Amino acid sequence: MSSLDDSADIVIPVAGSPGIAMRVSRGRSPGPTLTILGGVHGDEFEGQLAAALIAETLGPQIERGELRVIPRANPIAAASQTRHTPDDDKNLARCFPGSPDGTTTERIARALTESAVEGSDVLIDLHSAGRALKMPLMIGYDAADAHRCAPLAAAFGVPIIWEHDVIGPGRSISTAADRGIAALYVECSGGGTVRREELEALVGGVRRVAVALGMVDGEVVDGAAPRTIRGGDGNLDASITCSGAGIAVLFVDVAQEVAAGATLAEIRGADGQLRESLTAPFASLVMAVRRDAPVVQGDFIAMLAPLHGAGPQ
Ligand SMILES: [Zn+2]
Repeated sequence: MSSLDDSADIVIPVAGSPGIAMRVSRGRSPGPTLTILGGVHGDEFEGQLAAALIAETLGPQIERGELRVIPRANPIAAASQTRHTPDDDKNLARCFPGSPDGTTTERIARALTESAVEGSDVLIDLHSAGRALKMPLMIGYDAADAHRCAPLAAAFGVPIIWEHDVIGPGRSISTAADRGIAALYVECSGGGTVRREELEALVGGVRRVAVALGMVDGEVVDGAAPRTIRGGDGNLDASITCSGAGIAVLFVDVAQEVAAGATLAEIRGADGQLRESLTAPFASLVMAVRRDAPVVQGDFIAMLAPLHGAGPQ
């Protein structure tokens, strides 16, 4: 509790599983409801820590409306530090809106949908590239909701904004969008590490959104002229993959522009022989690359965002 707000720690029950901790902070006056999710993936530590810091620092300062913060949206995956829930090997970010009598992950999704997502005006889902990948600091949303999401993404103030043609089903943000909620997600570098500047960007970004929504007092600051890219669905399950085993040699890094036909990676055998060369099918911004060099058939190599019609803004 603080002098300004009315905060409560709530545990959202999940049938047959540990509950999900949520901090709810209410201002003295009516206003929007802003919901922050961290830890939808248990191997993404930036969002989990940022959400906890947001609850502690921003929560007591809320003047208008309601801030809901869930640092560990999937407590079981967070405990095991894995992307998927060990119980059923499911990806929570493909299970929304969930089911009350489904598997563990589907029940977690249902509980989050009913107790955190529903009733929100704005949802921000804090992700990172996890242990396996690397991504740039960015914020994304569905172009269909650009009229509401673009100003919030600009207020968040990270270098790259990705406006998607389509957001696949099963995400917290697709479920939120279906319910008329302005929904955005954030990515950053991952790798099982937490970088101070990214942590500060996430905590500060949510604060700037809260200011833009009028929930806390402060100066609305224009971000550092972020670059907006448009198109693509940002689905890590549908990306550039290799066709055989070997050692991946990366030619590119995240946030790098590549021309159509540019080499993204080579796959070489242990003898050094070139087995495969992977190239960009269109002019792109590199939005994710793998971290581990050893690959087997079908492994993720890179994810691209199309650049055509979307140069530097
Ligand atoms: Zn994630």
